[in-house]
Amino acid sequence: MSSLRFKAIDNLTTVDGTLMPGSAKITAIFGDNVFTLKTAREFLSDEAYKSLTASIKGGKKIDRAVANQIASGMRQWAEAKGVTHFTHWFQPLTGTTAEKHDTFFTIKSDGTPIEEFDGAALIQQEPDASSFPSGGLRATFEARGYTAWDPSSPAFIMEVGAGKTFCLPTIFVSYTGESLDYKAPLLKALAALDKAAVEVCHYFDKNVTKVTATLGWEQEYFVVDEGLFNARPDLVMSGRTVFGHAPAKGQQLEDHYFGSIPERIYAFMRDYENEAYKLGIPLRTRHNEVAPAQFECAPIFEEVSVGVDHNLLLMDVMDRVARRHHLRVLLHEKPFAGINGSGKHNNWSMATDTGVNLLAPGKTPKTNLMFLTFFVNTIKAVYDYSDVLRASIASAGNDFRLGANEAPPAIISVFIGEYLSKVLADVKERVGDKFDEQDEAILKLDLHRSIPELLLDNTDRNRTSPFAFTGNKFEFRAVGSSANCANAMIAVNTILAETLKKFKKEVDTLIEKGEKKEIALMHVIREYVVGSEKVLFEGDGYSDEWHHEAERRGLPNVRTTPLALDAMVTDKAKHLYEANGVYTHIELEARHEIELEKYIKRVQIEARIMGELATSHILPPSIKYQNTLIQNIKGLKDLGLPAEAYANQQQILEKISLHIGKVSSLVEKMIEARKVANNITDTRTKAIAYTSQVKDPFFDDIRYHVDKLELLVDDKEWVLSKYRELLFLR
Ligand code: ADP
Ligand code: MG
Repeated sequence: MSSLRFKAIDNLTTVDGTLMPGSAKITAIFGDNVFTLKTAREFLSDEAYKSLTASIKGGKKIDRAVANQIASGMRQWAEAKGVTHFTHWFQPLTGTTAEKHDTFFTIKSDGTPIEEFDGAALIQQEPDASSFPSGGLRATFEARGYTAWDPSSPAFIMEVGAGKTFCLPTIFVSYTGESLDYKAPLLKALAALDKAAVEVCHYFDKNVTKVTATLGWEQEYFVVDEGLFNARPDLVMSGRTVFGHAPAKGQQLEDHYFGSIPERIYAFMRDYENEAYKLGIPLRTRHNEVAPAQFECAPIFEEVSVGVDHNLLLMDVMDRVARRHHLRVLLHEKPFAGINGSGKHNNWSMATDTGVNLLAPGKTPKTNLMFLTFFVNTIKAVYDYSDVLRASIASAGNDFRLGANEAPPAIISVFIGEYLSKVLADVKERVGDKFDEQDEAILKLDLHRSIPELLLDNTDRNRTSPFAFTGNKFEFRAVGSSANCANAMIAVNTILAETLKKFKKEVDTLIEKGEKKEIALMHVIREYVVGSEKVLFEGDGYSDEWHHEAERRGLPNVRTTPLALDAMVTDKAKHLYEANGVYTHIELEARHEIELEKYIKRVQIEARIMGELATSHILPPSIKYQNTLIQNIKGLKDLGLPAEAYANQQQILEKISLHIGKVSSLVEKMIEARKVANNITDTRTKAIAYTSQVKDPFFDDIRYHVDKLELLVDDKEWVLSKYRELLFLR
């Protein structure tokens, strides 16, 4: 029987790469499957419509009778589109999304079958929550949690093959009120930022009543052939290739980046984009990324919570559409060793309801000052809470990427470009201690014209910075490709809310002392510039010098998840999140526990798959080839040939025997180390043990010997798809 690997290679020639949907104008399909306000206008009574919009805008409660009307209107719309089921769609702490489908169909007490969807089912559901992570918040004997409708995220129809489900975005909480998902704390963080930012905006413009954080993510991913993927149990089980020798050609030619998109991938992209447009996901760009088989897409930015939903939806859509094309999408942060990893850059800014982007340089001295305020507060927030940010992006997958080649380091720093560095230096130097009105000259700097020119120009981009200012937004680049952006966004928005609150207090104190407003603002801005300058770094974030320099500056550089997560439960973090109403300390402790458990499980799965593959996939063909060599050498000897006739074979045989021996003994030892780690009861200690006793001492070492065998053993006998196939065949 030929191996899955060779079957997959054979099948490649018969794959139809042209499965391409008819091209429609995007505007003709955009939002087709979304219950938009326009749809609501059409399907709801005036009363229901008003109540829904009030709830979306101002978080007003919807009463039961009106909820019934809304539910009924939603059902009519959905049924007209062929929907039979509905689900509360939520974002549990597993990192993916969850849904449990119920049908509209029901039977009345007199036996009449009807279709029904009422306000109660719209507003609240009680999924069996026992199998979702809760970090001990919900003892399993009372596995109760409920999902509650979040009207601020539009409902949508998810199409899976012929099945269509009406999905209601919800938050997921325990009966005692603790959040069990990413959405609830995200909404709270956004509310905290809104409040703090509006107050600071009032120094400049009293008309501002709402500040909305905005998110435009860039999603990187790999695509591989499904057959070749199936011949890699490690990819199937862990999303990452735990073995695999580097191909002769990797990304050194840099010929993939922005190159023409391969036809089969192009068809897949068009197909998932179509699905995305119907769901109202405003995708804008698509292109090849740096590594072979790596790609990226990005939407037009949206409000953070909608952006988060859309990213999660897209990851789901991409996965399903890929299967339709006999392809697989890899969202893991580092699916291939030695090849670039994948991130999810979170472009983030804030917009006022008066239409101002608070991170866009102003056109007048006054708006310049507003820009400087938010810009400098963000830098200060990142400096003060860099550990909290680092914790928000920590995961087993991202550990392979952060600080590894061609990814931002685990050190959180901010890049602002040459021009703004000068501006901040000016603020620091010229303002001095006695800032007077003459120094207002600094505000007359033509930020508006100079910054876009300099910063929107790609040459002034720093691709190695984890947190970079890019002209009118910050780009948090260290977020992992498979992550729910909510986690990073909760952290970013909360730390800024907290910093702005402190800022306001300090400025107000000066004003109360009789200082002129602008001067008070400049004083505190200057203090913040001085107080956070250590976090600014313009150089190469990948370089060794930066690691030394960062250490000298006292910036944290935490390389592993179990230790990075410590920052979630410090007194500082508890105060931060409690003061802003985002998490209680109990919720933080639970989340900390959950993140540690996720880490342990991921490393455990990888360790298991390594052991399993070594024994069942690596050693058998290696031993078989070893035997072939033995037979060959024996034969040559039997013929009475001199030693040099089989010297080469003997050398290869010795190498193979060495690697076989190493692989089996290391795997044995790793299993022992796992047993020891598994017996540890304290979760944090166990997670650390999984890093220092299981992963670090064994993963690379086992891989080294397996990859050597891959080079030595007869290619015909090797059963795992090779890197060159996964990366270059499609
Ligand atoms: P790049 O050169 O990094 O690709 P782009 O201008 O194309 O820069 O933007 C990248 C991402 O940034 C896009 O997803 C875009 O929607 C997003 N973006 C642009 N402006 C904002 C903003 N004000 N807030 C949030 N995201 C934004
Ligand atoms: Mg970018």
